[in-house]
Amino acid sequence: MDLRLYDTLTREKRVFTPIDPARVRMYVCGPTVYDYAHIGNARPVIVFDVLFRLLRHLYGAEHVTYVRNITDVDDKINARATEEYPSLPLNEAIREVTNKTDKQFHDDVAALGCLPPTVEPRATEHIEEMKTLIERLMKSGNAYVAEEHVLFSVPSMKDYGKLSNRPLDEMIAGARVDVAAYKRNEMDFVLWKPSKRGEPAWPSPSGIKTQGRPGWHIECSAMSWKHLGETFDIHGGGIDLVFPHHENEIAQSRCAFHTSVMANYWMHNGFLQVEGEKMSKSLGNFVTIQDVLATPMSSLVPIANDEGPTPIFAGWKERWNGLCARFAMLQTKYSEPIDWTTRRFNEAGDELYRFYEVLRDAYYDTSLTREVPDNLLAALRDDLNTPAAITTLRATAKSQDVSALGAGLSLLGLLDDEFVRRDDLLLFNHALSLTAEQEAMVNARNAARVRKDWKESDRIRDELAAMGICLRDNSDGTTTPESAR
Ligand code: AMP
Ligand code: ZN
Repeated sequence: MDLRLYDTLTREKRVFTPIDPARVRMYVCGPTVYDYAHIGNARPVIVFDVLFRLLRHLYGAEHVTYVRNITDVDDKINARATEEYPSLPLNEAIREVTNKTDKQFHDDVAALGCLPPTVEPRATEHIEEMKTLIERLMKSGNAYVAEEHVLFSVPSMKDYGKLSNRPLDEMIAGARVDVAAYKRNEMDFVLWKPSKRGEPAWPSPSGIKTQGRPGWHIECSAMSWKHLGETFDIHGGGIDLVFPHHENEIAQSRCAFHTSVMANYWMHNGFLQVEGEKMSKSLGNFVTIQDVLATPMSSLVPIANDEGPTPIFAGWKERWNGLCARFAMLQTKYSEPIDWTTRRFNEAGDELYRFYEVLRDAYYDTSLTREVPDNLLAALRDDLNTPAAITTLRATAKSQDVSALGAGLSLLGLLDDEFVRRDDLLLFNHALSLTAEQEAMVNARNAARVRKDWKESDRIRDELAAMGICLRDNSDGTTTPESAR
């Protein structure tokens, strides 16, 4: 059966045909590393991780190359470096900021169950490739020099604007560019600009004497070229990147290589929203991935044993919260907006743990085939329909089809053996966060269990159940009726 993907450029869902099935190639625009990533930034990372996993499943892991860049040269980085390390020379301060943020980002997305991409190029390591492209564009008449800048001449490309398909006046208004007298056309965008004193600077493309630095868009054309070639299969990112970033990437790459396309499929994830508005740094309505990983609303806690309520393994809470966030995110189709709520996050955790309970012990029976079920694959092949895939998981859980459930969870990056195997965890059955008093009751109950005071522990459990909070223990066979939900 075919894989079909919605392509933003042609505005249709088409059968995916890789240029070379032995080397399927995908590029996704990565983070600008100057601050903690928020949970909205996590959405493209999770969405394209699922696509990466699906492509590996369909074509073989060794046949898929996934490139996600790191933007480590940007005005926002410079500003943050000056603010945070005023006594350091700017270049060193920038290195501090980018290294720290880069590490944080990797820890964050690993906790969200994402595989590392095949290649993670950094913009500053591809300045030579950017300059080569810029020089080609100057030679072909698609770029010009003005006041030590190099600008891409938008009117030089006949079909500029196909991806976003906006009327010209809207593009002019929406272009995230400063109006500058040296531009021949207001739509023209910067490929290279002079560096101010102290700013990162490299020798400029030929014909410009002063040192400079790249504009934002050219880096992705350079890095995708270096690691994937002039034309490749899939290009992804958030919907906000369609214009101007992806439009400009297309213009640069197509004009530099004289090709009719840059990538054959353009995929864009919808926004993660808070009360109907895009979560963003500038609106200040964001929750960082760190906040989500550390949030106290985790639906699991370790059950106390003779040594007391010990942590089950290092970093378990972040890993559990990461899985819950990933599961919560995949319940919505990648192209649709999501409203981020703690309720959604908690409910995802409850459901995921119930899946794990179905798998416990049985899934590790070596005679199981663990084949991904056809109906789940069919859902993913239909433009990465993860909510439909999750619906099939519910049916497999209901029918206790352990093999299919485990294989399906695994393909979606939602299976964590460590959690499946542990039966010394308590599930808070809640769609709301616990109050401090309720948490104290859980702790008191754990303490009673350590004392082997079963009467007291049962009493507290019943009291919590009366509040609608259902604790389910597995180690001693205690279960609380589902009706407490
Ligand atoms: P930035 O660091 O802002 O360039 O964003 C990195 C990636 O996160 C890009 O692919 C953006 O499109 C994406 N992104 C940023 N904010 C959101 C959001 N609220 N929802 C979904 N994706 C987002
Ligand atoms: Zn990009």
